[in-house]
Amino acid sequence: MHIRLTNTLSRAKENFTPADPSRVTMYVCGSTVYNHPHIGNARPAVVFDLLFRLLRAKYGERAVLYASNYTDIDDKIIRAAAEAGVEIDVITDKFARIYREDVGALNVLTPTFEPRATAHVPDMIALIEKLIASGAAYAVPSGVYFSVAADADYGKLSRRAQEDMQAGARVEGEDDKRNSSDFALWKASKPGEPSWDAPFGVGRPGWHIECSAMIAAQLGETIDIHGGGLDLIFPHHENEIAQSESANHAPLARVWMHNGMLTMEKEKMSKSIGNIVTVRELLDADWQGETIRWALLSGHYRAPLDWSDDLLKQAQASLDRLYGAVLRLKDVQAESVEAPSAFVAALADDLNTPAAIAELSALVTNANNAKKPAEQAKAKGELLAAGALFGVLQADPEQWFRASFGEHAALAIDALVAERVAARAAKNWAEADRIRDALSEKGVEVMDSGSGSAWRRRG
Ligand SMILES: [Zn+2]
Repeated sequence: MHIRLTNTLSRAKENFTPADPSRVTMYVCGSTVYNHPHIGNARPAVVFDLLFRLLRAKYGERAVLYASNYTDIDDKIIRAAAEAGVEIDVITDKFARIYREDVGALNVLTPTFEPRATAHVPDMIALIEKLIASGAAYAVPSGVYFSVAADADYGKLSRRAQEDMQAGARVEGEDDKRNSSDFALWKASKPGEPSWDAPFGVGRPGWHIECSAMIAAQLGETIDIHGGGLDLIFPHHENEIAQSESANHAPLARVWMHNGMLTMEKEKMSKSIGNIVTVRELLDADWQGETIRWALLSGHYRAPLDWSDDLLKQAQASLDRLYGAVLRLKDVQAESVEAPSAFVAALADDLNTPAAIAELSALVTNANNAKKPAEQAKAKGELLAAGALFGVLQADPEQWFRASFGEHAALAIDALVAERVAARAAKNWAEADRIRDALSEKGVEVMDSGSGSAWRRRG
């Protein structure tokens, strides 16, 4: 089965063929680590984690090399460190750890490489020197700039004509660049800012050059897949292409993938509107990580996604159904099988998660209808295998329902279930029925089986 991916470069859905199937390479622009990641930051992490899982399933776990960086030098970081009165690495270490914890709660696997920009400054300096030597970049007192006019291909990803970019916004402190659309590779340091020595002057790297240097250092000059949010196409990814391809005379990435933006009540999420919600806030509000992951995957990755409590409630109800089916079969030993082909085919079709979710739902129906032990073992195995590829169903089903009720309520439910077990043992059927009804009013369904009584949220 071919994996098909929409390539922003060609604007078409293409069969994906890695240059070397034993070494599949993917890079996704990571987080600028100075504050808590919001739910919009989590979308590319989850989308490309799903692709990482699909590629590993097809090419083998060790064949896929996935790098996602931490941008740990940036104006916003410098400002945050100055406000807190600490060195920048105090801020960046803390928020890189928080980022990994938060997306880890959404079952995002740790990428193969997580390079930090500040660990690759010598690579950036070498790349800038190469660009200056070839005439693609020039040094002036405020820094080193890429000369957009020297790159005939500039604009090929975003499909902007060079003339449209001439009227680029003026950037403070960049008055000496030759052309307004030229962009900084290196910024001369201001007093009190972190800086590095370079042949072209003391300073710090620009944002775009960080990714170009880290990609070459970690994965090579040409990679199979480069991903990121739609908002990065221009200027960030356009500039990565300009730098890397001018220096290496080879394509930077063969496939460019971009996820759509998250909105909140149809409005763009932004600090100024104040409609940003962080992953941590959602977890603290007792939404489970898998619920947040499912909600993020409920729409197609290329489309915008409108975030709301209703979206989370729907995601929780869907996962309840999956966990309920697994719980019902808790005494059945799952057969060891691969994820069913219809489910994998949905994901392989440009990560069509709505279709994959429909397949998961069909697998639940299958599991609920299975009667014979062999059918049940196979149905449970298929559901678990598909869930694992999707990055869900990783919790114990009883724990899942406990966690979604909250531990306090779960203990009260446990006590009622135990009273009901005692009433049944004493053949006090009226009392057992009364307790079952009381539980039902709380939205709890009791399931009796050979190994005791389990409970779940009523669907
Ligand atoms: Zn990047």
